[in-house]
Amino acid sequence: MAVINDVSFSDDSWTNWGKNLTSQPEATFYPNKLEDLKVIVREAKANNKKIRCAGTGHSWCGAAVTDGYLVSVNNMNKIHPPKETNQGWTVTIESGVTVEELDLALRAHSPPLALPSNVHPTSVRYGGILTMGCHGPSLNSRTMSDMITELVILNAEGNLVTYSEDRDPEAFNAASLNLGLFGIVYTATLRVEVMNTRFLARDSERTFETVFDGPDAGLKLKAMVLKNDSTEFFHWPFRHFMKPEQNRTIWVKEWERTTEPAEKVNPNLNRPPTVDNPFFSEFHAGERVQEIPDALHFHLGDGVTTILDAGVGFKVDNDFKNVIEAFSELIEKNWAFTTSMPERMGTAVEMRFIKSSSKILSPAYDQDPEAIFCMIDVMATSETPGFEEYAGGIVANWIEKYNAKPHWPKLWESVPGVVPYLRREYGDRLVRFNKIRKTQDPNDMFLNNTWRPLMQDL
Ligand SMILES: Cc1cc2nc3c(=O)[nH]c(=O)nc-3n(C[C@H](O)[C@H](O)[C@H](O)COP(=O)(O)OP(=O)(O)OC[C@H]3O[C@@H](n4cnc5c(N)ncnc54)[C@H](O)[C@@H]3O)c2cc1C
Repeated sequence: MAVINDVSFSDDSWTNWGKNLTSQPEATFYPNKLEDLKVIVREAKANNKKIRCAGTGHSWCGAAVTDGYLVSVNNMNKIHPPKETNQGWTVTIESGVTVEELDLALRAHSPPLALPSNVHPTSVRYGGILTMGCHGPSLNSRTMSDMITELVILNAEGNLVTYSEDRDPEAFNAASLNLGLFGIVYTATLRVEVMNTRFLARDSERTFETVFDGPDAGLKLKAMVLKNDSTEFFHWPFRHFMKPEQNRTIWVKEWERTTEPAEKVNPNLNRPPTVDNPFFSEFHAGERVQEIPDALHFHLGDGVTTILDAGVGFKVDNDFKNVIEAFSELIEKNWAFTTSMPERMGTAVEMRFIKSSSKILSPAYDQDPEAIFCMIDVMATSETPGFEEYAGGIVANWIEKYNAKPHWPKLWESVPGVVPYLRREYGDRLVRFNKIRKTQDPNDMFLNNTWRPLMQDL
């Protein structure tokens, strides 16, 4: 490890968690404080280098890929004491804080606090979560970017810029989901809630037919989604691990708010797995009252397998019929893909529902705050041959049928025709975003090959 002006850096290569991306940055920096970020931007400017940032590396798109300077924000993990404001409780964090670190700090606070929704993994960092517009399962909580009240970003000129609704609503909107294009995010302030309620988390295994068949299947699904705080569906193709029988069931996770106390002991701790699939082995049918973070961050995976994931958001029809069609068709196509080769057996599909985001680059953006978006994903273990091409076809079909927009951190760059589609569909919103981006990064220091095709010549 070498050091420049007190900032450590290495010439290490970089690989993302899903193992579909590698890069050789000229230098990877490990800043600990704001002054270090300033040094990195100053160095990049002086040496005409590009910068990208990375957190835990859980994205599958090439957002962090660079042969210039990579900034690992993992040591920027300070959490400021939460404050009670006229907008309720807020907490300010540095961008390298993990989900787990913030959950712990909020729980330890008096009164205990929590984010109302969150992404599944606890190892990922808020720089990645917020810049990429990530989301949890809660219908009314929308995306994580919608929880931001203030952002502080060090731009390409070395200036620290504070974004908030009061200062400049348009710039704040764009900065809240900025794809890492406005500079290095230093801090974010998030709205949090007092943990007065908990989740009644209900898991059930249902047959396809009970959920997806019949003329009123869409309306039944709609009623379920509207009744719950959060609803999530999983499906994996094989009934039993490494055996050919098709799984004809869907795993349904539902969360409802409750004032009941959380159960102290996990009733599933010593129960044998009910799902014969190592990736979902912690799933157990039944009901439990859990603290909010415990309910949101259930464990997925066998600790060994990493996965690839392609996912989109699309606006749900009033009768939810497009959701029924999309999920049923996905299960069918996924069965055909999975059974076409023994090496393709590790696949799964998933969907959640959120209300629209106000952020102009969100795949769930809509002017109607009551519009509901289906966030749907297809995934496979990292080594699955042909998955990227197959998933690209699935996403292209969702684009064609439902005007779907890829969820930015997932696999989308290999979807046929995706760049002209995104430029057309985001249209004026992309132009507005780019105008603000140019004020922060006039010489495209933060633009890499993932984002350049979307932003150029706007
Ligand atoms: C197993 C798994 C489960 C997941 N579950 C969900 C889920 O439930 N919901 C969901 O929405 N997503 C989910 N994701 C996607 C994941 O939340 C995103 O990929 C998120 O960006 C990961 O955070 P990270 O710390 O790994 O970021 P990285 O992937 O390391 O970084 C992503 C990008 O964020 C930007 N960035 C990061 N920090 C900064 C900074 N300080 N300044 C400027 N730019 C920055 C950079 O452009 C970087 O390339 C999941 C991913 C995995 C692997």
